[in-house]
Amino acid sequence: MNFAQFPRRKYIHTPTPIEPMPALSKRLGKDVTLYVKRDDLLPGAGGGNKTRKLEFCIADAMEKKADAIITCGAVQSNHCRLTLAWAVKEGLDCHLILEERVKGSYKKEASGNNFLFELMGVKSIEVVPGGTDMMGAMEKKAENLKGEGRHPYIIPGGASNAIGALGYVSCAAETMTQLNDMHLNIDHIVVPSGSAGTHAGMVVGMVGTSSNIPVSGVNVSRKKDVQEEIVYKLALATAEKLGVNTVLDRNAVVCFDQYVGPGYSIPTDAMVEAVKLFAQTESILLDPVYSGKTAAGLIDLIQKDHFAPGAKVLFLHTGGSPALYAYMETFRK
Ligand SMILES: *Cc1c(COP(=O)(O)O)cnc(C)c1O
Repeated sequence: MNFAQFPRRKYIHTPTPIEPMPALSKRLGKDVTLYVKRDDLLPGAGGGNKTRKLEFCIADAMEKKADAIITCGAVQSNHCRLTLAWAVKEGLDCHLILEERVKGSYKKEASGNNFLFELMGVKSIEVVPGGTDMMGAMEKKAENLKGEGRHPYIIPGGASNAIGALGYVSCAAETMTQLNDMHLNIDHIVVPSGSAGTHAGMVVGMVGTSSNIPVSGVNVSRKKDVQEEIVYKLALATAEKLGVNTVLDRNAVVCFDQYVGPGYSIPTDAMVEAVKLFAQTESILLDPVYSGKTAAGLIDLIQKDHFAPGAKVLFLHTGGSPALYAYMETFRK
């Protein structure tokens, strides 16, 4: 797979670690050995998965001579935090449109990522109600900026288009190189499935490297069928962009939707348990919205003997821990 054919800013200089999680594996008491890919340790203020995608998206913006980035996300969006962080680093303005998916959830004085938006000098924040056409809102913002003589570039939510997803195809290739160097034969990879670029990229990367380790996504908002379609479509577009010729089997895209709870970003008991368990066995900080719910899914699947006895399972930790500080009451309850 030739990633050098695309514009890319190199923000990542070493592979993120793959570590065993012996204490957690033991605590779960099943015949499954857990490993973690530490994408929470990626560079970019606060860390997390969007840096991989932004290597490609911001490079594309710069190639097109943009001087301002517009993107969108939820009120505690890690994606908005990292887009802002890399825009600042590149000397680009960054404008955010925040979707109040849970009514009344935006608070200007909130902690977590919201605090970091202000700290890193966001150019503007516009808060819109849940269900707003976010692309429409970003296009409107772009028109306004063009009227002021600026050259805006829109990065979609989660940087999950075929450009951004390349970052996770590249992560899959990086992971396979590491696993071969470690001589570690992983049976299954578990990832969060949100705006879908992470999941789609990993699926394409497994096919593109002929590794074919099954990748399962744990949903954070949508129903299984809807999410699988979104992931599959994005995987097809990404494979085509990259020139991966292997046919992508629809069955390679598998999502679990039973760990979402009442909805996106709304805490569940299982998420709280999972976040505490990771913190208290492996000293690994998850987040309430993505990696916490994904870990809850991983733990439940292990407890239900979803994986074959003796399986080695790799959990992709996508980061997000700055959002923990906006949820302190949830964990203290
Ligand atoms: C965005 C995000 C995800 C989900 O990745 P997608 O590519 O949007 O599916 C997972 N974890 C964290 C911490 C994130 O910020």
